Amino acid sequence: MDYLPVFLQLRARPVVVVGGGHVAGRKVELLLKNGAHVSVIAPELHAELRKLAESGELHHIPGPFAPAHLDAADLVVAATSDRDVNAAVSRAARERRIPVNVVDDPELSTFIFPAIIDRSPIVVAISSAGRAPVLARRVREQLEVLLPAKLGALARFMGDRRVAVKDALRAAARRPFWERIAGGLVGSKVLAGDESGAQSAFERELYTSRLTSSAATGALGEVYLIGAGPGDPDLLTLRALQLLQQADIVLYDRLVPDAVVERARRDSQRVFVGKEPGEHSVQDRINQLLVQYARQGLRVARLKGGDPFIFGRGGEEMEMLSTHGIPYIVVPGITAALGAAAVAGIPLTHRDLSQSVTFVTGHVLDDDTLNWAHLAAAHQTVVFYMGVAQLDRIVKKLRTAGAPAALPAAVIERATLADQRVLRGTLETIAAAVAAAEVAAPALLIVGDVTAFNVVDALSSAASAEPLFGAIA
Ligand code: SAH
Repeated sequence: MDYLPVFLQLRARPVVVVGGGHVAGRKVELLLKNGAHVSVIAPELHAELRKLAESGELHHIPGPFAPAHLDAADLVVAATSDRDVNAAVSRAARERRIPVNVVDDPELSTFIFPAIIDRSPIVVAISSAGRAPVLARRVREQLEVLLPAKLGALARFMGDRRVAVKDALRAAARRPFWERIAGGLVGSKVLAGDESGAQSAFERELYTSRLTSSAATGALGEVYLIGAGPGDPDLLTLRALQLLQQADIVLYDRLVPDAVVERARRDSQRVFVGKEPGEHSVQDRINQLLVQYARQGLRVARLKGGDPFIFGRGGEEMEMLSTHGIPYIVVPGITAALGAAAVAGIPLTHRDLSQSVTFVTGHVLDDDTLNWAHLAAAHQTVVFYMGVAQLDRIVKKLRTAGAPAALPAAVIERATLADQRVLRGTLETIAAAVAAAEVAAPALLIVGDVTAFNVVDALSSAASAEPLFGAIA
């Protein structure tokens, strides 16, 4: 290891920065954030530093650098564009045994600034020992994604309760207790921004831990109802990823591709609870499994295609979990309509063409609780889920209710997956096009003028002087 990572407490300590430009400015900002008393030595200051000097947040010493400037400093940063000056600062600092950093010059530095992920009080520092700063920054970006935005809030939540837990639990029980807090429902709730929910869960957890001497007994698991998005794993939310990394067991169904399940923790157990369309008893079995696994104390990720609350029976699963007193968290996902619209370049609403969008299930044609007159009206977009097998009937219903034969429509099959297909037509032509292309589930039907919106085609036909809506007119 070339450098020892340490975290410096600089509150109210004197720090000298030599240089008044933009680079110096960035270091000054960081030092001020840590509460240091910063003096900047430079003949002139860059606008942002000048503002800080004027407001008294830093002390400006105008003029060239002199070694005596360092006499009282705890830490020195040189950030001038003149290497001779930087070298002089470095020499003067070393003579006085003050740690010195010369920006982007490890040779002249006795310490370096790491790349930082700030979830204060949790701070992650990454260094390449000055050899590959770009690589260090990439590592930071990769970690950024994994670390929840509210990690700092969780650290504070735990910190604020340390004394109470110390008083309540004997030493041996404390560590497993904190593990359960950080990795269980309390942690998940804080990270999801629900501090009051976290507080009640915390109290329950502390209460049971006091009753049971062993940490493991009585631990109740929890369920994450996670929207997995339309298929492309990059469309998972960060929270979905974080909870997938935490879950002990993952239940997923037909709509969730392997590439998404692969994002779960390596050693998690994966259970396919495949549900074919119309297979009703399967939902009961899934419900039973959720309860059974959670009762074993497991953290269960229930991965559902798209969003759990849009034609996903997430409502029923949630109801069943609360009936059984099993804690759960719902993580929204990108619903298929949004994924399909994005890949097909169909804006679901549009100032001129469509002022509302409706998501409809094509499943209920027989009971027909739908208001077809409403769905057939102009100036809107209607998205039919699970409708492709029923396409003929849907078209007929819309037509009978008054929708024109020329109303544009599109079908998007396997949106966001590698083999996705987009078919465009009108109410008159779409069913034949879908039959000819042998479109299979999962696919969506989108009806409305916006489906003729085709920027890609308009741009690719370079000779075309047609306006974007030539196709509609
Ligand atoms: N909860 C899901 C919907 C489940 S219903 C969501 O929010 O997306 C299943 C229906 O969703 C399918 O019949 C199909 O109409 C649609 N669907 C799901 N994934 C799709 C995809 N990748 N491409 C097109 N349609 C999809």
